[in-house]
Amino acid sequence: MKLSTCYKALITAAVLSFTAPAFAQYQTTAYRASILHFVADPAVSQTPYEYYEDGVLVVGTDGKVKAVGPANTVLNNYPYIQVVDYSGKILMPGFIDSHVHYPQTEMIASFGEQLLEWLNTYTFPTEQQFSNKTYAKGVAKTFINELVRNGTTTALVFGTVSPNSVDALFEEAQTRNMRLIAGKVMMDRNAPDYLLDTPASSYTDSKALIQKWHKNGRALYAVTPRFAPTSTPEQLTKAGQLLQEFPDVYMHTHLSENKGEIAWVQSLFPSSTGYLDVYNSFGLSRNRSVYAHGVHLRDDEFQSLAQTGSAIAFCPTSNMFLGSGLFNLQKAEQYGVKVGLGTDVGAGTSFNAFQTMNEAYKMTQLRKAFVDDPDTVNPLKAVKAYYLATLGAARALSLENQVGSFKIGNEADFVVINPNATDLLKFRMQKTTTIEDKLFVLQMLGDDRAIQNTYVMGKKQTVNGYGSGYYQYTYN
Ligand SMILES: [Zn+2]
Repeated sequence: MKLSTCYKALITAAVLSFTAPAFAQYQTTAYRASILHFVADPAVSQTPYEYYEDGVLVVGTDGKVKAVGPANTVLNNYPYIQVVDYSGKILMPGFIDSHVHYPQTEMIASFGEQLLEWLNTYTFPTEQQFSNKTYAKGVAKTFINELVRNGTTTALVFGTVSPNSVDALFEEAQTRNMRLIAGKVMMDRNAPDYLLDTPASSYTDSKALIQKWHKNGRALYAVTPRFAPTSTPEQLTKAGQLLQEFPDVYMHTHLSENKGEIAWVQSLFPSSTGYLDVYNSFGLSRNRSVYAHGVHLRDDEFQSLAQTGSAIAFCPTSNMFLGSGLFNLQKAEQYGVKVGLGTDVGAGTSFNAFQTMNEAYKMTQLRKAFVDDPDTVNPLKAVKAYYLATLGAARALSLENQVGSFKIGNEADFVVINPNATDLLKFRMQKTTTIEDKLFVLQMLGDDRAIQNTYVMGKKQTVNGYGSGYYQYTYN
């Protein structure tokens, strides 16, 4: 050991011995691993990501990104820093779920129906229970634990019609300081009486929740009409009024998921020129407006979404599970519509981003069987899938200056992935040569076992006392 290095080590040890007990959680920390994050959309850039095979991410005492780059270069600038060694693992920004229903956690995997029957048979009876705050808190805790175990650090979340459901979720998210967007469902028709609000009460309740939660810590609020069929024109007017009064809140709803639904919307709003036109006519389309699905959009509707800055949450496991249809991701790219990946649990079948990307890939493959010109359909590349689950979703949620990449100053939400988490992954990984190969194998074969750890604002999360990837330890 050189003398200077020896002194550095002694000084570091001395400093740590004095400060570690009291200030350990406030230390600037370096995480050493193979580090990947996106800087651009692979659809428009030849160099959409940065990858450091032996990299370091530096997180400051404020939980934000201070530096990222090759280990040797970065560590030279931080000679005394505490290093957490995740060599052999892949460290990425935490996954972002652009559309999910936390009250449906307990009814994931319910058999046999398509959208409208599925809502009546399973969803509405389940959501009734959330007027009970204690009940809601219990499900919220399970939901947030599932996010953490699956490496998801931000989500755009449906509550139920009860304001209690939103309080319960945000309270749980705050125990982990998690960046979550959520809102109370607005629904004043075409659902059971026990779940209906009114235009006036939905306005008053939403406004009170906005004032209580929007920008409270990392919480953000979304005005959340369930979908056009369950709101009267009077209620959609109120939703538009809330967006006028609170310009920086979100708007979150469903759009063009199912053909029966589209026909129903047309009959309920006979003067509209289409499904999206209903929302547009009430002033609901703009930046921070997120429409789940968009499976059956017309070209002019894609164009309209791009013009208004609205985003689509692409939810492949849900679209396959409910038999809704095959989303046209290439068309969204062609029109420049922002897209993020969503799970849509409980119609979606997994909280896991790998599994969601897996189904997204299969959906693009399946599209080839249903279009007139299959040669024009490209299989979803792994880099695009991971983009949609991180930076793409952050852009869809207008959060790219907070999360979704390791841009300096961003909030340090990240996930440590074990590419060898199962015997099959380990065996298959031996035949990979590039990071893009490894990402695709993880996308196809990975699940929650591959999530070794999840960090929120630089803080390692646990679930029931275990790190996220505890399955990994019980598996081997
Ligand atoms: Zn949904």
